[in-house]
Amino acid sequence: MSNEKLCAGCLRDNEENIAETWCSNCSELVCKFCAKVHRRFDPPHKIVQLNDLSENNFSLIESSKYCGTHSDQKSVLFCSQHDQSICDLCLSDDHANCKSIISIERAAKGAKEGTAADDLEKRLKDIGTVARTSLKEVKTNVDSLVKQKSDILQMVSTVRKEIEKRLDELEQDITEEIEKQYNTCQQRVMEQKIVMEKQEKELMDRNSDINSLKLCTNDIQFFQTIKTLDVSTHQYETEMTTKITRISLEYEPNEEISKLLAALKSF
Ligand SMILES: [Zn+2]
Ligand SMILES: [Zn+2]
Ligand SMILES: [Zn+2]
Ligand SMILES: [Zn+2]
Repeated sequence: MSNEKLCAGCLRDNEENIAETWCSNCSELVCKFCAKVHRRFDPPHKIVQLNDLSENNFSLIESSKYCGTHSDQKSVLFCSQHDQSICDLCLSDDHANCKSIISIERAAKGAKEGTAADDLEKRLKDIGTVARTSLKEVKTNVDSLVKQKSDILQMVSTVRKEIEKRLDELEQDITEEIEKQYNTCQQRVMEQKIVMEKQEKELMDRNSDINSLKLCTNDIQFFQTIKTLDVSTHQYETEMTTKITRISLEYEPNEEISKLLAALKSF
């Protein structure tokens, strides 16, 4: 609705005058001048300041004047049988056989003193209470959603930390175990190395011994010495082939770990 409200009576006479009041009897906007005229009718018309009428109520009064089915027709009749305000068209269309058709003026008589308004007020109050209760529930729901989200995220974070903690412990245990094994193995390999180095040196020495023996001995001495060396050399040979075993770290990942990884990927 435009802010500029014009007097309906003056408009009919092709004059534009601002209306700040409304005639309740005629149900139309009236200018200052026309308001004075309406007040002088017998009985006087009731003139209302537009400022006293909310925009909502003004639209409501204006639209209620017209028939709900035929928007260009004013409701001038009331069908008691259907409890409905109707227009002339409605009367011939849908209420031709209704018995209790009365004028809207008659139907409205005593409306302000009657129980209809009280009933409506009570119903509105009841709906208001329901609406407030529903609003409260919705607000509670909003808060509850926030809390649910935070709880779930907190839980996920806690589970993750527990898993990480356990994995850290496992890694720590395995690291310590492997470190211990490594030290033992390394010690054994070093012992083997020392033995092997010693044997290698002895063998080299023996080779050069044989060369010098050839120069310093007669055949018998050489033969006998060689035989002695043959026995001890045989001992070396046996030791060399049996003694050296490959030393490795032993680590078999727990088979549950690969199952766990597979399970994690399936989540
Ligand atoms: Zn006027
Ligand atoms: Zn009037
Ligand atoms: Zn109608
Ligand atoms: Zn009817």
